[in-house]
Amino acid sequence: MSESVLRQRRPTVAILATGGTIAGEALVAAQTIGYTAGVIGVDRLLSAVPELDSVAAIRAEQVASIDSKDLDNALWIALTHRVNILLAQDDIDGLVIMHGTDTLEETAYWLHLTVSSEKPVVLTAAMRPFTALSADGALNLFNAVTLAAYPDAAARGVLVAFANRIHGARDITKVSTYAIDAFASPESGVLGWVHDKRVEFQRRVTRTHTIKSVFRLNVINTQNLLPVVQIVVSHAGVEGIIVDALVNAGTHGIVVAGTGNGSIHATLQKALVHARTQSVSVVRSSRVGSGHVMHNAAAPDDILGLVSAGTLNPYKARILLMLSLAHGWSEPIVLQSLFDRY
Ligand code: ASP
Repeated sequence: MSESVLRQRRPTVAILATGGTIAGEALVAAQTIGYTAGVIGVDRLLSAVPELDSVAAIRAEQVASIDSKDLDNALWIALTHRVNILLAQDDIDGLVIMHGTDTLEETAYWLHLTVSSEKPVVLTAAMRPFTALSADGALNLFNAVTLAAYPDAAARGVLVAFANRIHGARDITKVSTYAIDAFASPESGVLGWVHDKRVEFQRRVTRTHTIKSVFRLNVINTQNLLPVVQIVVSHAGVEGIIVDALVNAGTHGIVVAGTGNGSIHATLQKALVHARTQSVSVVRSSRVGSGHVMHNAAAPDDILGLVSAGTLNPYKARILLMLSLAHGWSEPIVLQSLFDRY
């Protein structure tokens, strides 16, 4: 850590606990798969990591106790509001969110687009429950707090501290169902590392986020209703019936997890072209898990009125499309410029 980024006073880090495996409990310590996520309260989780005291003063809150597979819009909206309120306080230097691994990448990108502060926001999680042998949550939490308290972690958008690596919210994705090192940032690589109270960054985040983002929650009504955006997958033998059903149900947007470079089965493409005639926005992404979906390459986007997702995976493309539609931006050319920028 260089002198220029050392603080003069002890930092304060807010922690928001939402549940997940990091708060999971099993009957016996040898159980690492059969357990209940999101049951242990934040006070007990923190008392297992007294070393946090050597890094920052902590202010913790329990905002939810869920398995993140069950996450919904209401919790995303509540999280953004709470993060914005806490980070507006002068005496809070950074913030950590304890989350489940299943949808961590989605929440990270949601916050990346909707938080209005440059202070560090760091998500962390665990692959093994709190009660397990070799549970990974305590060290991940310690590293997340270290990162949130590190002044040079500011203005890099939302970060994830996991298994000693620092990932950017836009890049990270879960790549293993069981491994302790369950996340990767395909194509772009990690932003840096956090080890033993030391933080090292290797690159900056170039896409627009947080305070420069145009996406703000004041466009969302009090019922937490966001435009309905669903994901469909292109595969051998796929039929158009799913798309037709979504259109009939009044869906506002569809993200296609295409094959390869976002290519779409001819049958599915026919249904999607029909969806466009019903004013449904359609974004082309890829089911491959890494790489880039090139505009006007595997499909004539401009002719069909489609938008290409670039390096955003289908789940993150859904978030960007949902927020764009919530702001009233549905023209393909406008959507494409947003997908090229965020
Ligand atoms: N199902 C859990 C969750 O996402 C998995 C985990 O946290 O690792 O909440």
